[in-house]
Amino acid sequence: MKVIKFGGSSLASAEPLFNVRKIVQSRQGVVVVVVSATGGTTDALYEAARTAASGDKSYLSVYQKIKERQLELCSSVLPEFSVQTAKASLEVLAEELGTLLDGVCTLGVLPEKTASQIVSFGERMSSVLVTALLPGAKLMNSLDFIKTKSVDGRTMLDNELSESLVRKAFDNFSESNEIAVVPGFISSDASSGAITNLGRGGSDYTASIIAAALGADSLEIWTDVDGFMTADPKKIKTSYVIDELSFNEAMELCNYGAKVVYPPALYPVSKKDIPIHIKNTFNLDSKGSVIHRHCSPGSRAVRGISSIDNACILSVSGPSMAGIVGIDSRIFRALAHHDISVFLVSQSSSETNISLGIMEEHARLAQTLIEKEFEHEIAAGSMSPVEVQREMATVAVVGEQMKGNPGIAGKLFSVIGQNGISIVACAQGVEESNISIVIERKNLRKALNVIHDSFFLSVYQELNLFICGVGTVGGSLIGQLAAQKEKLMRENNLKLNVVGIARSTKGIFDRDGIDLNGYETLLENAGPLDLAGLRDEVIGMNIFNSVFVDCTASADVASLYKDFFEHGISVVAANKIAASSGYADYAALKELARRRNVKFLFETNVGAGLPIISTINALRKSGDKVEKIEAVVSGTLNFIFNNIAEDVPFSRTVMMAKEQGFSEPDPRIDLSGKDVIRKLVILAREAGYVLDQSDVEARLFIPQDFFDCSLEEFWAKLPSLDAGFEQERRRLASENKRWRFVASIEDGKYSVSLREFAQGHSFYELEGSNNIVLLTTERYHEHPMLIQGYGAGASVTAAGVFADIISIANIN
Ligand code: ADP
Ligand code: ASP
Ligand code: MG
Repeated sequence: MKVIKFGGSSLASAEPLFNVRKIVQSRQGVVVVVVSATGGTTDALYEAARTAASGDKSYLSVYQKIKERQLELCSSVLPEFSVQTAKASLEVLAEELGTLLDGVCTLGVLPEKTASQIVSFGERMSSVLVTALLPGAKLMNSLDFIKTKSVDGRTMLDNELSESLVRKAFDNFSESNEIAVVPGFISSDASSGAITNLGRGGSDYTASIIAAALGADSLEIWTDVDGFMTADPKKIKTSYVIDELSFNEAMELCNYGAKVVYPPALYPVSKKDIPIHIKNTFNLDSKGSVIHRHCSPGSRAVRGISSIDNACILSVSGPSMAGIVGIDSRIFRALAHHDISVFLVSQSSSETNISLGIMEEHARLAQTLIEKEFEHEIAAGSMSPVEVQREMATVAVVGEQMKGNPGIAGKLFSVIGQNGISIVACAQGVEESNISIVIERKNLRKALNVIHDSFFLSVYQELNLFICGVGTVGGSLIGQLAAQKEKLMRENNLKLNVVGIARSTKGIFDRDGIDLNGYETLLENAGPLDLAGLRDEVIGMNIFNSVFVDCTASADVASLYKDFFEHGISVVAANKIAASSGYADYAALKELARRRNVKFLFETNVGAGLPIISTINALRKSGDKVEKIEAVVSGTLNFIFNNIAEDVPFSRTVMMAKEQGFSEPDPRIDLSGKDVIRKLVILAREAGYVLDQSDVEARLFIPQDFFDCSLEEFWAKLPSLDAGFEQERRRLASENKRWRFVASIEDGKYSVSLREFAQGHSFYELEGSNNIVLLTTERYHEHPMLIQGYGAGASVTAAGVFADIISIANIN
């Protein structure tokens, strides 16, 4: 025999109701069909009751809607011959309900007893509908056999009585095909006979009680999702069905918010070892999940995650609590007397503080109760008043295979920490099958995503990118991302999701990902965005594994990094400003990123995509010491000095560098050595030196007045230098030498200057806008390390930024 329970959504419209008939009729033998109220009806009944109790006549329209909906469902799903009888029964019930509500409205009070009576109509009506839908089915009255008793004012199942009454009620069902329909949720008091219920979601419980009492082969719970999922599918889009889980695992998950099964429902069937199958009424092909006692270990240690979002933390503390026996029991007794359940407990090792996780709606009462219990201690100052932290959420990570599997807690805490979320309290029992953490509610979605991502989707890793600046570098980066996305997903299991694209005055944001092929139009049509708006959007999205990619040259944008780090967001910067600004700021940023466990990468600040900074970092980390650096790191200046020729004067090469996108828009930033100074400062700092730009000696090769005038005047005056350069060029050519603008660190001195190198020196052969860096270290002493290659241009810079992004994902 089978017990099959259909939830409210499975009964809410014609389509699933037809499936209900199909499912039941496909079963052999005795089938007990337990039904909830049609979706939303219980809420509507409570609403009507409360409205009526406040004397507000508008309850009538709620009542009318409830009634009409039931009648409409009858008309749409029942065969002609049974519609009238079913409707007549429903009319009788509706009339009874109407009279009750009218009484409540007149008296202006809603005793619990009456409320229970009113909400019972949900299941009483739906069971009439379902009985009529299933030819030959017999409607049973659960008030006759699901019995409750009152314990300390609380309604509780009278287990033994219900079990024997269920057996008696189904006694004369034979093994032939018989169908019984039972309204779930509702019950009656064993002594008074008054209508009671098993609590919200209680139809699952009714079904489980019946399955256990009758020794059913299985209990099927049909709902609106494909099975028991790794997380609530309404919160985590990437959650997927768990094939099987144990009763204990299901209990932990359901107790922590997995609404799919009402927690008390797990107990009766688990005791009798009856499996529960969770299936989808809307998708008959889905395999569903099974909850049973002996389930296979599965490939993952964690089976599922669940969460409660209306939690708060109460902290009871005081020096006098240390070593005193009985404090905890007094706290729990005080709360239990008022039916307040504690779902998480965490105690400090000194026993001077105990933190309790409870539902937020109980916060005020719980605080009052505990403060009353300890009023003398608080008055004497040996205990502090109770502290309440509101707007909290709790996440439970559950799996029996977690036991004896080291590293789960470490992984959990580190992924949460890396995303800038603090854990307010946590608990793990000795069974090690559950770790619960309490966090601020505003971080719940992010936490669930990141935990789900790391424990269940480790087949691929996801990074959420904000790209700021869509000029030559940013634009090229977006093009490269669009081209590589699929391949990275396929071959490296890395999902790169661009969730924001901004330029100086506009921005587009979409946590589900922006289509990179059409972003220009979207950006064009976007509303205005200032710096504060950009900051708020990036931080406000509060999305996990976020990386802010700065492809601008803006000091304002760089000023946001600090906030981003504080919020667990990594930064990849092509922008050189932050790393070359005042030393104290640079050091503070790096320290903050380290502390917050986020990445601050700016490889492209020197030599575009060349691995210069990462090489210096690797050398230092392995214990080497950088003694000297000589570097040609201005692609622009190299381009200029490589292109000067008899027929290409100096002024023309400067213009060519600008036109070909090598120089900064104002080429004087390059000609003055400013850009090289910044790069030198960055290299030196990464090599372990403490310096500022003002510590670098700049030997200019252009008179100072060229830098003091306007850009227009500069361009006008520039040809006046051509003759001098041509004369020098000839001399160099005759001596077989070439110009290079070199940044150097030697003996604690920093300088940038135009120098001459004879043929044979590695700096002599340096084509186009290539860069070269010579690193002399303790280990690379006799023969310095040389890094050379294409060191300027939008696409190689974008490729370097891309490489930094990928290194955050740490894929290989
Ligand atoms: P019913 O009306 O069928 O009793 P419920 O709304 O009580 O349905 O329970 C099903 C809902 O439980 C799903 O729609 C889903 O949003 C929620 N849920 C929460 N956690 C989980 C989970 N881990 N797996 C499946 N569903 C879950
Ligand atoms: N109809 C009741 C409720 O909405 C019971 C149930 O659905 O299981 O809580
Ligand atoms: Mg339910």
